[in-house]
Amino acid sequence: MSLPHHNPLWMPYTQMKTATPPLQVDSTEGVQIHLSDGRTLIDGIASWWTACHGYNHPAIVSAIREQASRMPHVMMGGLVHQPAIQLADSLARFLPSDRNKVFLVDSGSVAVEVAMKMAVQFWRNKRGFWGDKNRFVCFQNSYHGDTTGAMSVCDPVDSMHSHFKGFLLEQFAHPIPDSESSLAAFRRFLARHEHQLAGVIIEPLAQMAAGMRFHSPQTLRSVFSVCQEYDLVFIADEVATGFGRTGSMFAFEQAKIEPDVVCVGKGLTGCSVGLAAAIACGKIYDAFHSDEPHHALMHGPTFMGNPIACAAANASIQLFETEPRLNQVASIESQLREQLAPLTSTPAVHSVNCLGAIGAVRMDREIDVPEAVQFFVDQGVWIRPIGDTIYLAPAFMIDQDDLHTLCEAISDFVHDR
Ligand SMILES: *Cc1c(COP(=O)(O)O)cnc(C)c1O
Repeated sequence: MSLPHHNPLWMPYTQMKTATPPLQVDSTEGVQIHLSDGRTLIDGIASWWTACHGYNHPAIVSAIREQASRMPHVMMGGLVHQPAIQLADSLARFLPSDRNKVFLVDSGSVAVEVAMKMAVQFWRNKRGFWGDKNRFVCFQNSYHGDTTGAMSVCDPVDSMHSHFKGFLLEQFAHPIPDSESSLAAFRRFLARHEHQLAGVIIEPLAQMAAGMRFHSPQTLRSVFSVCQEYDLVFIADEVATGFGRTGSMFAFEQAKIEPDVVCVGKGLTGCSVGLAAAIACGKIYDAFHSDEPHHALMHGPTFMGNPIACAAANASIQLFETEPRLNQVASIESQLREQLAPLTSTPAVHSVNCLGAIGAVRMDREIDVPEAVQFFVDQGVWIRPIGDTIYLAPAFMIDQDDLHTLCEAISDFVHDR
């Protein structure tokens, strides 16, 4: 069963004229996607990496149900509610510094927009006028979302936003410096542009949307310290990496750094309701905390802090305490290494890399994605490559047998090339 030809749904990132119609899903459960035609797929990518506890976790479903009957929504202008208070409290505690403040929004892209506005207005509030410090450093292969500000800090060449060049704000994209010499070049670059720069934005340890490109905690740590030398507002975009994906609750923890602003989203509600946040440290917040009305942060989405979404997020965060999620991620990492690493010797494979609950097999050329997806669906698994990379980023509670099936499917695929 597929999308009827005349249906007005416009699908994402899709050439509607030539694309294979999407598969219709009837229900989900654990790591399974049940299609309307009766087939079941084992999900290898957790719905864009959001389903950390698997689908339909009963604790999240009941929190949603309970909150929906009490109060589905109320505006946050002048009003507040317990689920948001509790969520802000939990999120603020995840950051190393104190006096953190949590700004709730409805999607990861908007969390990035808000983080960027925080950085720009931070300098404005501190200096009392609109200076030049309103541009950002970002990195090659970065992805930070689809809204206009977020698009401007995506990789300018390789991202899907390259055709909006001219429309977007001009930012500075730099390679992630991973050697002494490239770090020195990065430092010179910052020295040259410091007067224009509000901040820097990076996806800590894993650029997932670019096809799972990893850098080491040491690299992240040296990027952080060079940015500190030039006083840049350091934004860690943990929308994809937050909530356990790379093996720690947040990826930045592994580099022992203290970002100024952390964006979270994706896994926040355990794959249930859209919600994200920009979490600022006290140093940033202090620049907004004054007697001047115009020092306030000027942002406020209509559905900001939606109570159902907050209740889901609170239940999801609690599951990280009551269920052994990070241990499960560690087991997934060792099984991925064991099963995927041998594929390195396959002729069509460029490299295999694993980090936490992410396993990536990079081929030596671009993959025909529709053809690959069809191959995987025929094997009963849901895997959707990005560019030249086939990857797994499953739910953390996946059992060994299902993970084995997913790895076998990838192995069959690459041996078939
Ligand atoms: C997905 C993603 C975003 C955008 O989040 P949306 O909820 O899709 O707007 C931003 N940054 C990173 C690193 C992401 O992976």
